[in-house]
Amino acid sequence: MSAAVASLQSIRLRRAMLVSPRHLEIRDFIPPRPGPGEVLLHVRCALSCGTDLKAWRRGHPLWKMPMPLGHEFSGVVAEVGEGVEGFKAGDEIMAAPTAPCGECFYCGRGQENLCAAAIEKMVLGAYGDMLLLPAHIVRSNAFVKPHDLPFEEAALLEPLSCVVHAQAMAKPEKHETVLIVGAGPFGLLHMMALRSAGVREVVIVGRGDARLRWAGEFGADRVIDSRRQDAAAIASRLNGGFGPDLVIECTGQVEGWTDALARTRRGGRVVFFGGCPPGTALSVDTRRMHYDGLTLLAPFHYRPRDVRRSYELLAEGGLGAGRIINEHRRLSDLSEVFSMMDRSAVLKCAVIP
Ligand SMILES: [Zn+2]
Ligand SMILES: [Zn+2]
Repeated sequence: MSAAVASLQSIRLRRAMLVSPRHLEIRDFIPPRPGPGEVLLHVRCALSCGTDLKAWRRGHPLWKMPMPLGHEFSGVVAEVGEGVEGFKAGDEIMAAPTAPCGECFYCGRGQENLCAAAIEKMVLGAYGDMLLLPAHIVRSNAFVKPHDLPFEEAALLEPLSCVVHAQAMAKPEKHETVLIVGAGPFGLLHMMALRSAGVREVVIVGRGDARLRWAGEFGADRVIDSRRQDAAAIASRLNGGFGPDLVIECTGQVEGWTDALARTRRGGRVVFFGGCPPGTALSVDTRRMHYDGLTLLAPFHYRPRDVRRSYELLAEGGLGAGRIINEHRRLSDLSEVFSMMDRSAVLKCAVIP
């Protein structure tokens, strides 16, 4: 055991556990020693995420409570297990919380985003002092963080990977007009990624004064307030009256999906990015879909190549993605973070142990 880890045993380490819906406890936590291929890290920053909020509200279908929470993180390596290459104690590190098995049907076809093992073995527990990274993540979805990239921005690796994956499917082009439906963290990340790709016109439709103001500040060419303006009429006038070439849905609500479909120009593409509640269905006008030649895309999760691209985008520093982190709290105030998220009073909150 290294001296650094030995001394940790004498201080109290904590980890947040969701014990029942809307009830978090900060519990003592003794991290396991890293096994072969594993890396133990000191968490420096964990980011709040809508997925955490869903679990906080009603539990998670995949995991039993009490369960650890938090999957967007960055940190410093405390100790590495046997056979780990590329990382050593003291390295600043950023990683995705999942990685594919590399052996299943989907992995064999380059659709690693659909690998069941990736989701089953997702790392949770970033709301805590320390986190153990399993070998499969260390192998394919972990990176040494550039020193000048802030820990909190590095923790955006996972959400940005989802955005990168979606845009890799949508293939936005420089001359295009893109409409984003929903001005939450993902809508804004999509906008920043499109901006950095040089897309000509990026328009956001959403609700909530603060979010719409941020959308404008962060670079949207135009912001449409769906509560006060006729979004359909405004969207139809975009792009010389043809409507947007590409619409990216980021609300995760069927109404958002329906709107996204309706706003897309003839021959355009729709990206259904936000996952809707289970049991919901989308009604599609088959005539419009066929005779207007629409392309419907529904990207989920990310592949290692998306994580690498996301890492490059963050490392290059041109996105300004850190701007969506607009609150900072200590781990001891985690319950407050969740009630802020519950009221949509925060885009992303950096939780610092
Ligand atoms: Zn997330
Ligand atoms: Zn697989």
